[in-house]
Amino acid sequence: MVTAQSLYPALAPYGFESTGNICYGSWRNYAVSVLPAQYSIFQLSFAVRADKQDKTLAKSLRDELRQQLGKNLSTVLNLGNAIQFAYRFDNKSPQEQQFVRAADAIAATLSAHGLNPASTCAVCGGGTPESLCVLKTYQPVHAACMRQQVETVREQAQENKENGSYLTGLVGALLGALVGSILPIALIIGANTISAFLFALVPLAAMFGYRKFKGKSDKVSIVIVVLVSLLFVAVIDFVYLAYLFQQHFDANFIQGLSLAFQNLGRLDYWFDTSALIGDILKSFLFMGLGILISWGYLGRTSSAQVQTAANQLGTLRPNPMFAQDYGQAYSQDYGQDDSAAASQPRQSFYWNGQNNMR
Ligand SMILES: [Zn+2]
Repeated sequence: MVTAQSLYPALAPYGFESTGNICYGSWRNYAVSVLPAQYSIFQLSFAVRADKQDKTLAKSLRDELRQQLGKNLSTVLNLGNAIQFAYRFDNKSPQEQQFVRAADAIAATLSAHGLNPASTCAVCGGGTPESLCVLKTYQPVHAACMRQQVETVREQAQENKENGSYLTGLVGALLGALVGSILPIALIIGANTISAFLFALVPLAAMFGYRKFKGKSDKVSIVIVVLVSLLFVAVIDFVYLAYLFQQHFDANFIQGLSLAFQNLGRLDYWFDTSALIGDILKSFLFMGLGILISWGYLGRTSSAQVQTAANQLGTLRPNPMFAQDYGQAYSQDYGQDDSAAASQPRQSFYWNGQNNMR
């Protein structure tokens, strides 16, 4: 199996670098990023500016490339600001040779379709993006635009730290969880069923409410959201129980609630508790699953966002298309004391070891 650990170092001689699980560099002036997908398959993204609505583009690129690269090329996706090619590496020839062959074929095919290397900034859309930077894919950008983005994130984090409140956040989380609970409760009453997977929505809705109500965005926010979610899942389970009593005694819903409350300690007298306990366990299990699935969103605290933005800035490199403009941008935007840029060795701002800077 071909892994990132073996592939990425093999691309280093071509000026490719890696951070986390992404590898990035420039190929025939295309900003290219490489991401592992599965079983030796990697997503090769080439930065272009394509019409995202064009449904036939990806298919015709795929058909043409398959004639050259065979079945190793699978899915092709049009992301609008990049075209993504799923390519399977094998162990029949050196990995860098396979990459060169694939990347050359892709670059030539893109160019034949009039999809030249992107020459507008992925952030502001303006011309002469003198730098490249890892966003979701590797993209031409203005160093100043990236700088501005990081500054905005920092300011928002600072603002949240000073003015964010656990109390308003808690209110928001409760309201959010309430909205998130409507669907599971509607299903209990409408369809006489408890749908465990819907409980995965509760923590997501709670965090959404927390953020909307200017909750202070730090690690405490995660604790608050988890506690609110636990509370709501317990409430929904209780409503389910009340509904069961209501059905059992042919009572109204208020009486059902009252009966459920009075009989909480001796449910086994009325129901098959093994099925009931199974349902309740499932509801909490799926809530936990919801937390895991949406962790990328729940864990996006202010400081995590600042860190992500600073990491992005660390991948800023000269765009070989506009290399002569890079020195200027560097001196303008990365004065002596910038922590993120200054921590990069200056050598890394040279392209492929060639000094293109003024
Ligand atoms: Zn820009």
